[in-house]
Amino acid sequence: MKLRLVTLAGDGIGPEVTRQAMRVLHAVAAVTGLKVDVTEHPVGAAAIRSTGVPLPENTLTACLAADAVFLGAVGDPAFDQNPLPLRPEAGLLQLRTALGGFANLRPAVAFEPVLDVSPLRADRVRGADVLVVRELLGGLYFGEPRGRDADGQGAFNTLRYSVAEVERLAHIAFQQARLRRRLVTSVDKANVLEVSRLWRETVTRVGLEYPDVTLKHMYVDSFAMRLATAPTEFDVVVTDNLFGDILSDEAAVISGSLGLLPSATIGGKVALYEPVHGSAPDIAGKDIANPIGAIGCIALLLRHTKHMPREADAIDAATREVLAQGMRPADLARPGDPVTSTSDIGHAIERAVTDALERHWSYHGV
Ligand code: NAD
Repeated sequence: MKLRLVTLAGDGIGPEVTRQAMRVLHAVAAVTGLKVDVTEHPVGAAAIRSTGVPLPENTLTACLAADAVFLGAVGDPAFDQNPLPLRPEAGLLQLRTALGGFANLRPAVAFEPVLDVSPLRADRVRGADVLVVRELLGGLYFGEPRGRDADGQGAFNTLRYSVAEVERLAHIAFQQARLRRRLVTSVDKANVLEVSRLWRETVTRVGLEYPDVTLKHMYVDSFAMRLATAPTEFDVVVTDNLFGDILSDEAAVISGSLGLLPSATIGGKVALYEPVHGSAPDIAGKDIANPIGAIGCIALLLRHTKHMPREADAIDAATREVLAQGMRPADLARPGDPVTSTSDIGHAIERAVTDALERHWSYHGV
């Protein structure tokens, strides 16, 4: 089995966390026989410096020909005054559009060894493992017409979804639930919005094709409260672009630090995996960034692009093991804790994954 991966390390801590993610991927490949063909390309500020634009033609062509794309992070204060199309972040937006993924997957897990990092009470978040499936290409952010009234005294946006858009996302949510605890919570505002009523009808109809998965509907306001007070009640959460934007950040509070969070954008031509955090220029170059979100992306990649759930589980277990040993990067360290470097965390997870895979399974190629 082969994986053609394009890595776009990007800016700031992007290259630092990408290196650790790649070492874990190569460790899995070494044990399982997965052939990994990785090519690196510039994006963001790195690409502006070398080519003048944030998403060079060659980078995009390589991404479109790959099985998957891994992106570290983009963003550099040196380009903050550039016009939008020439800012590093524009490269990421152009890439997401070109890859066409409509489903954004954001897992938020309460890691037992670092429950203290979450601002939520440990007894509330213990055991929480939520996957937010957000619609990414439609809804309020893209609806037309949009604009300002001619007299400048008002403004308007349009919320519109088609049955087809909701159906394709709902299928992804139910399929994800089958790989997990078989519960889908669909979040809408069907007591007020016509679009939400269509959303609810459509998700319910798709749900009939998955009789082994339990479907619940919730209004976004009561869901937002329940997510913070009883996150263990939820498994897969499916919602639209606007609600998903807000709720995926709220769900992140369960984990407690940006550095722990991976994401995947699937459903398009090529899947895109990226940690949720940005380029963190304030800590770049110091070898203290948390690489766990980036390494979590490799678990997502193995699960979704390569259908290797055992290996993905092994990465997640190795991460827990390393955290349980007391290793903490800067964002997880409490006052007085020794800070473990980015590379030491990556190395420890690499070793734990290799040990686990070698110990538990004998491979005859995959
Ligand atoms: P950020 O995520 O880069 O940083 C926010 C805070 O979290 C900082 O204090 C940072 O040190 C900390 N942090 C982030 N990731 C961390 C990690 N892995 N380990 C430890 N600490 C971590 O967000 P920001 O400061 O708002 O943005 C910085 C730049 O990144 C900007 O140019 C912004 O546009 C860009 N950005 C890019 C992405 C992306 O590439 N997907 C996402 C968000 C922001």
